[in-house]
Amino acid sequence: MRTMVPRLVVTQDNEFFFAAAREGRLAIQRCVDCHALRHPPGPCCPDCRSFNWDTVSASGRCTLHSYTVIHHPQDDGFDYPLIVGLVDLEEGTRLVADIAGIERDELEIGMVLEVGFAEHPHGEVLPQLRRPGGRTHDRPIRRWHPVAHSRPAAGPDDDRGGRHRLTGLRGRPS
Ligand SMILES: [Zn+2]
Repeated sequence: MRTMVPRLVVTQDNEFFFAAAREGRLAIQRCVDCHALRHPPGPCCPDCRSFNWDTVSASGRCTLHSYTVIHHPQDDGFDYPLIVGLVDLEEGTRLVADIAGIERDELEIGMVLEVGFAEHPHGEVLPQLRRPGGRTHDRPIRRWHPVAHSRPAAGPDDDRGGRHRLTGLRGRPS
């Protein structure tokens, strides 16, 4: 199997997002100074220009704002048609992810969805939208096809403790 999907570009501004996804958690960046949430991650708050940020764990509950159905070009890493949704998270930000387990004619704008997680063709874990059912990441829907790859000898995990201190990434509140 071959994939043309590019590898993730992981930076010190977005590494928290992918680290949380590997734990089955949706982390959203929050401005420390004005508390505005933002996604996708970036170094600076678009509201107040502050560079101080931490993260919050989103519930994963969301509603469908829009979607598109991709037929071509096709990649071995995915099933087609591939449906990609834009959702409003209940925390107030938006997220783009593929939709699994729901047919196109079952989709309605405004319908309630839930964020689960699935393995990317390169082996990374990313959010995936599904019907609400609770704890969906415990029973993943494998619509993505992992492909053979070699991991770099040193990855973001190697400095996890330090990164968490830098980003303020916190564990799941309970
Ligand atoms: Zn701000």
